[in-house]
Amino acid sequence: MIGAVDIGGTKIATGVVDENGRVLAKAECPTDVARGFDHAMQQVIKMLAQGAHHSGIKLEGIGIGCTGPVDPITGLLGNVNTLPGWEGTNPVEKLSVEFGVRVAMENDADAAALGEAAWGAGKGKVRLLYVTVGTGIGASLILDGKLYRGVSDFHPEMGHHVIEPSGPLCSCGARGCWESLASGPSMVEWIKTNAPPSYQTPNQSAQLICAQAREGAEWARRAVEREAYYLGVGLANLVTLFAPEAILLGGSVMKSADLFLERIHEVIGQNCRLVPFERVRISLASLGPDVGLIGAAQVWHYRFQPCGASS
Ligand SMILES: [Zn+2]
Repeated sequence: MIGAVDIGGTKIATGVVDENGRVLAKAECPTDVARGFDHAMQQVIKMLAQGAHHSGIKLEGIGIGCTGPVDPITGLLGNVNTLPGWEGTNPVEKLSVEFGVRVAMENDADAAALGEAAWGAGKGKVRLLYVTVGTGIGASLILDGKLYRGVSDFHPEMGHHVIEPSGPLCSCGARGCWESLASGPSMVEWIKTNAPPSYQTPNQSAQLICAQAREGAEWARRAVEREAYYLGVGLANLVTLFAPEAILLGGSVMKSADLFLERIHEVIGQNCRLVPFERVRISLASLGPDVGLIGAAQVWHYRFQPCGASS
């Protein structure tokens, strides 16, 4: 039984996950960044302890998925955009001391990819990419069952590869990176900039745009077409670069994947003729809304029990 912690910029979720990737108990709280790291950790400790108590178990270890950049080996948080002031703090050390168990952490996209590879739609795939499209775009590569790491164990940022050098400026420093063009907020931004005033609403969201597109609203349909195109271009680049066996798509924007998939396949077909793109399976991730927790638990198994029940 592993304690799982999913740290995001707006909320932190915790859970107890069994050796088959089933979530037995879960809880969440707002991240409340301004009150600081120690306050957030007190919440996490309380939620994990309650989850273990309600499940009637003792935690054997704790796995963490955290919005990045993070150092997976030392457990130190880097300069995370959505967690200002938390740089240099260490949730691995904190939870390890508190619970007296081994703790492992990965970037949240890597955690979700490990979860999908072990217990979800990526099971049995040896060349697997996982892409999550929501507030941002995260991606992770798993080769022969191993998480790909860059220099100094850094997580490569495929979500920020440049697609249009004249595109919008992103917080990563680049113009026209994939995230700046195809994340959920970029759909909203495009509507704000391009649609007529009659179409603007204060609570615009990617989800709302997709719902309006289903009802046939013209500007929403254009936004969806644009989104599908840029998703397609980014995915086509990944197909050309890696020719993976499968690409799994997750994240909040992909709840509306049926609106995008046909166009995505069309763009990949146009752009990837040098690799056998038709053999690259593009499908939806399967672990659903608990993927962050399930992935976090798998982070622990992957680090400490590479040949255990999860492999
Ligand atoms: Zn970027």
